[in-house]
Amino acid sequence: MRRFLIAGNWKMNCGPYDAAELLEGLKEKKAEVDENVDVLVCPPFVSIGMAVNYLHDTDIQVGAQNLHFEENGAYTGEVSGSMIAESGCNYVIIGHSERRQYFGETDTTVNKRSHKALEHKLAPIICVGESLDQRKSGEHYDLVKNQVTAALFDISKEDILDVVIAYEPIWAIGTGETASPEQAQEMHEHIRKVIGGLYSEDTADRINILYGGSMKPANAKELLSQPDVDGGLIGGASLDAESFSEIITIAE
Ligand code: 13P
Repeated sequence: MRRFLIAGNWKMNCGPYDAAELLEGLKEKKAEVDENVDVLVCPPFVSIGMAVNYLHDTDIQVGAQNLHFEENGAYTGEVSGSMIAESGCNYVIIGHSERRQYFGETDTTVNKRSHKALEHKLAPIICVGESLDQRKSGEHYDLVKNQVTAALFDISKEDILDVVIAYEPIWAIGTGETASPEQAQEMHEHIRKVIGGLYSEDTADRINILYGGSMKPANAKELLSQPDVDGGLIGGASLDAESFSEIITIAE
């Protein structure tokens, strides 16, 4: 049985001071979460230590937004999987469309980062999704299939059970435009079939597939009630303690 995962991707927002304020609000509203829901916040690297300390007496978990696929060494500005794990994280977002668009992330580097995450017992939240043009030209199913297949290359049948996929249609990110519940369900079902083909149906049934793209309290209920939507990767609304708490409550 899959559990819901409600994850906040703070993106490049909230240094340690703002993070403390946001987490304070979140703790007030949601120090305890239902046992059927996992809750995660993914602050920028500089706020991770503070968030881990701050949340140690809650059920809220902490993740990172990226990791480098090398172990350590001369990679100025990068942060390794072992460092992230040592800091107290247990998840890491990989291959977000903003990283693909602005930082040269490719399907190959997404795969390398995912292997590195798993090596350090960090659950990778692998992001996939199409642009509006790709959807309009009808290539979105093939594109997402290729993204998922490439990201999971050579990941073992044991490790795959720790992987989370986030379907984030690029046209719905930060635009206020959400995929309809039907559009989300269709793509999530497709992704589950792709994983079923690569591994097994039983494995596919156990994998969490999150929806991301303008999820907010007003649309979360409909999206989360779709059979193949197992949670949300939430940007803007995760920066507001009240909205994020409301989404968690809806998932419960
Ligand atoms: P928004 O919720 O702001 O659309 O962002 C979604 C997202 O990119 C989460 O990773």
